Amino acid sequence: MNHDGYRANEWVRHLGVYEPGKPIEEVARELGFESIDDIAKLASNENELGPSPRAVAAMIAAAPRMHRYPDGGAFYLRRAVGERLGVSPDMLVMGSGSNELIDLLGHVFLSKGTSIVMADRAFVVYRLIAAAYEAETVAVPMRDYTHDLQAMAEAVTPSTRIVFVANPNNPTGTMVGQAEIDAFMRRVPAHVLVVFDEAYVELLEPRDQPDVMKYVREGRRVMVLRTFSKTYGLAGLRIGYAVGPKACVDLVHRVRQPFNVNAMALEAAQAALEDDEHVARTRRMVADGMRQLTVAFEAMGLEYVPSVANFVLVKVGRGREVFQALQARKVIARPMDGYGLPDHIRITVGREADNAQCLEALRAVLGR
Ligand SMILES: *Cc1c(COP(=O)(O)O)cnc(C)c1O
Repeated sequence: MNHDGYRANEWVRHLGVYEPGKPIEEVARELGFESIDDIAKLASNENELGPSPRAVAAMIAAAPRMHRYPDGGAFYLRRAVGERLGVSPDMLVMGSGSNELIDLLGHVFLSKGTSIVMADRAFVVYRLIAAAYEAETVAVPMRDYTHDLQAMAEAVTPSTRIVFVANPNNPTGTMVGQAEIDAFMRRVPAHVLVVFDEAYVELLEPRDQPDVMKYVREGRRVMVLRTFSKTYGLAGLRIGYAVGPKACVDLVHRVRQPFNVNAMALEAAQAALEDDEHVARTRRMVADGMRQLTVAFEAMGLEYVPSVANFVLVKVGRGREVFQALQARKVIARPMDGYGLPDHIRITVGREADNAQCLEALRAVLGR
């Protein structure tokens, strides 16, 4: 792209451009499908059960009030989330998706001459945000598709401002456990902010969720990111939050827009938070669907990365071609060459019929 004539910041001209997938309607039109109803969209780790019915009711009830600005302080939602987590509301800040909070943390902590540490196959957004603030990214190789926390602690230098740990990680679906986290927290120098991105953690039964909130309560320099996009099924609304020591939360408040989270999202998130049944149903769907997919992968002789999240990396060989061929069979998965995994695709776990459609297409495409 030629930006001649614009006095843009030099580093911005060289940023990579995030390419979102095409709208499903457009894919259907290009491939000549009559409707989108029979397409299995298993590309973005969304909740295939949809939003909580209580969240839908709350949105409908809120619609006539949309001429009002939202509650910029997110008073009720911070109180409700704080009660659930056992932290005070002033340790919480809401974002337009947890992606916005990653950006806001970049705004607060990153600039030229600083750096972040992340795992080489962790969520790509961390390095995109670092580049947008002119910071360097130190990408530490994973071991067995899993964060190597010891190596990440050793990779910290005086210029490191943030260490990102996606747990569970997207796109690998792997998780580091309590013992590794505790050992990492003993080693990591006090000057860095550790960000635990827990976008998928609610999919785990509470007894299986690592406890990083204890570090927040102890006042360590730790921020925990959560989102309503995955387990709660509200990806379209864009709402997530960060939990951390009050002093760090205060810094984030200074750089956010006064109305960064919309009013519909605040209402829906509050209702979804109370709907434990929907979370339980979602966990069951994911557990059943994961079994359905992995049993079939084994029968087909396909290697996969065991996952605790609502998606799975499977090795199909020539991932981008397989992705295209699946799409022609009304199944949308995600190619992984962008993550340096050209032989893999990532499949989101859906309802039984979606998964079956995906498996049937995969058998046909791979001839297995
Ligand atoms: C999906 C995802 C998020 C959440 O993004 P939102 O902006 O809240 O929709 C954050 N981190 C990871 C690792 C994810 O996969």
